Formats: sequence, C-alpha cells, structure tokens
Amino acid sequence: MNFENFSAHFRAFHGRLAGFGFQSPPILIGGRGRAASDPFREHAPVRAGEIKISLQGVSRNYANEQGAHLVALQDISLDVRSGEFLCIVGPSGCGKSTLLHLIAGLDKPSGGEILLNGRRVSSPGPDRILIFQDHGLFPWLTVRQNVEFGLRMKGTSKQELRERARHFLQLVQLSQFSDSYIHQLSGGMRQRVALARSLAMQPDVLLMDEPFAALDAQTRDLLHDELERVWRETGQTIIFVTHNVREAARLGDRIVVLSFRPGRIKSEFQVELPRPRHMEDPRVVQVAGQVMDELRGEIQKSIESEFRHEESA
Ligand code: ADP
Repeated sequence: MNFENFSAHFRAFHGRLAGFGFQSPPILIGGRGRAASDPFREHAPVRAGEIKISLQGVSRNYANEQGAHLVALQDISLDVRSGEFLCIVGPSGCGKSTLLHLIAGLDKPSGGEILLNGRRVSSPGPDRILIFQDHGLFPWLTVRQNVEFGLRMKGTSKQELRERARHFLQLVQLSQFSDSYIHQLSGGMRQRVALARSLAMQPDVLLMDEPFAALDAQTRDLLHDELERVWRETGQTIIFVTHNVREAARLGDRIVVLSFRPGRIKSEFQVELPRPRHMEDPRVVQVAGQVMDELRGEIQKSIESEFRHEESA
C-alpha cells in the first residue's frame, strides 16, 4: 500500500469510527473492569425466559463472481428470549443482513439450523417481519391502508382490520394522519407507519435492519424513544441490526458483536441500564465505548479488505 493509499485508509478508518457512533466518552464511570456494579457484563448468560429464536451452529457460504468461496457467517449459535431487545453490531460486510435474512426465512443456511418457538424455519412467514431502512410503504395507499395491507393479505375481517389499524396507529401516535398519503409525511413518520404496519401483523419477532440509518440525528433520537416505548408496551421480541454502537447501547438489552469475515460472534454485552435511556447518558456512552473496543479491530479488517479489493480492481 503506497502513502496516498495509506493516508486515505487512515482517514477512512477514523471517519468510519465516527460513523459507528463512537466519540470519546466525556465521563468514564469505572474502568474496563467487570465489577458487579458495572452496568453491563460481557458474556452474560441470557436471562431466564422462553426461548423465541434459537440459532444453532448457523453458517452461510457464498461463491463470488470469480467462483471463490466466501464464508459470510460461521458457526453462529444464539438464543433470543421472548420480549428481548437484541442488537447486533458489526462492520460493513460482516454478515448482519445475511443473518436477518436467514431468520426471516428469505435465505437458507449452508449449515446449522434456526428454530422459531422450537420449530425449524424453512421459509418466510408473517411471524417474522423485516423492517429496512427503505420503509417499503405503498405511495398509492393512505397511511391506514398501508397498515391494513398485510392484514388484508392474511384474510383478516374488515372490522378487525379497522380496529387493529386504529390501535397501532394510535400506538405510534399517527392517528391524525390515517388518511394522509406517504408523500405527505416526514422520513421519521414514514418509519413509524412501517413500524405500525409490522406490529399490526403481531409477529413473533420483529427484525430491523438499520431502520434509522438514513434519518437525521434528531429524528432518529425521537424514533429511539418511540420504539422503546412501543417495545415496552407490546412486549415484542426485536432483533435490531446496526453499525452504530451508541444506538445499540441506547436500545439493546443485549448487544452481540460480529467479527469481520467470517462473521462469527466475537462477544456479547448484557446492558442493564435503566429505561428509558438517552443517547447522551454517560452510562450509554460508556457501554458504547466498550463495544467499540471490541469492534475497532474488525472495522480495520473491513476497511483493509475494501482497499485490497480496490487495489486489485
Ligand atoms: P452486512 O449486512 O454486515 O454489511 P452482508 O450480510 O450484506 O453484510 O454481507 C456479508 C458478506 O456476504 C459480504 O461479503 C457480502 O458481499 C456477501 N454476500 C451477501 N449476499 C451475497 C450474495 N447473495 N451472493 C454473494 N455474496 C453475498
């Protein structure tokens, strides 16, 4: 790697850390130790409770354009309990989206198995709903019709459609926009409609793939509050993928860190901070810093891989 590449690489690395929601913590509580008073514990066991999703030795291999073998995910074993808010963090290309697609049944593992309520996942189903950054709402339908859409496909009666749409739009505080069209809403409101639409299906698990990444910081903070409130009120099980460690510390009961290629579970953090939480809370910042310590080397590997790819192109 020549000097120009190196300095671009260096800038990219530091820029990427900022993108991961990392900044030096203004206040440090305690040190790196794992004292009993720590707000989180690494490798803490999953709390007792019904296991909703179980991944057992899951791997996913791909062949790239040159036919070379790529191990995207390797030996992922993970239990997610009912009502848990699990965050998955990792650098770009570590297999976060692949993992959600496997759980959603949109893709099949190359090895291992995924169980939902003890039954093997083999195809997509309304019991697992995936929410993306691109909310995927229909512009020709009103807010209420968008929320009703999935239920209509399921053959839900007209009266129940109306009741559920009303209930979930109220839950995300959008009742007064029921008859608006999607283009009349802000980005944050659209994500709240997407959330209401998913919740109305009453899935077993909500899978969220960087849903707030395209929003400005203020809107994202408001949606964190909203999502946390809705999660507490519904007791929904959520698996939330993000590359932002601060977001993970703000939202998660537990944070799983994935390594870069092959994507494996590198470490886990149990976050036992009181709720509601705030992004600027020093304890949230501290947890984010600890997660970032685990992640930093993986981000470096991800960037090196991108640079190698560019140099060989
Ligand atoms: P992340 O969401 O963490 O950025 P992805 O799950 O999108 O990562 O991808 C993990 C790795 O698997 C990447 O190297 C990506 O290029 C590769 N990958 C994902 N989907 C496919 C596919 N359909 N075919 C080939 N490679 C893929």
